[in-house]
Amino acid sequence: MRIGIGHDVHRLRRGRKLLLGGVRIPHARGLVGHSDGDVVLHALMDAVLGAMGEGDIGDWFPDHADSTRGISSGRLFERVKKRLAERKMRIANIDTIIHAQAPHLGPYKSRIRESLARIASVPADRINVKAKTAEGLGAVGEGRALEATCVVLLEKKRGGRS
Ligand code: MG
Repeated sequence: MRIGIGHDVHRLRRGRKLLLGGVRIPHARGLVGHSDGDVVLHALMDAVLGAMGEGDIGDWFPDHADSTRGISSGRLFERVKKRLAERKMRIANIDTIIHAQAPHLGPYKSRIRESLARIASVPADRINVKAKTAEGLGAVGEGRALEATCVVLLEKKRGGRS
């Protein structure tokens, strides 16, 4: 078994799409980023890369590369999954926290969980999605940014080396 942690923060800006865990959330503002800014998938990728001991998302997908400009984070995750398969490992479970003052994410948690299950190829009952406000404090609380934190446990498949 190997454990990994991921964290990410992105700025909110009017006129951008808001994507969280691959789910489009209706909101006046969305996340600014070199890719689609999906802060949940970025935290998840960092957690998986960390558990494998394979660096971070910036090593894998530099934010100055033309090849990843505007790219869907789900597509970036495909490369992480490929590396997991090469390492003969799989995700045992995922726990994630989305820090957002607005929009209210309660109604979207189950959709985000199902989307993460599809993207990460993990059964939904091995994924948990929590949403918290920041009590009005800091960049998240003032509605200027969203953050995500993620913990992942990896297990080796039969015959695989960790
Ligand atoms: Mg990011």
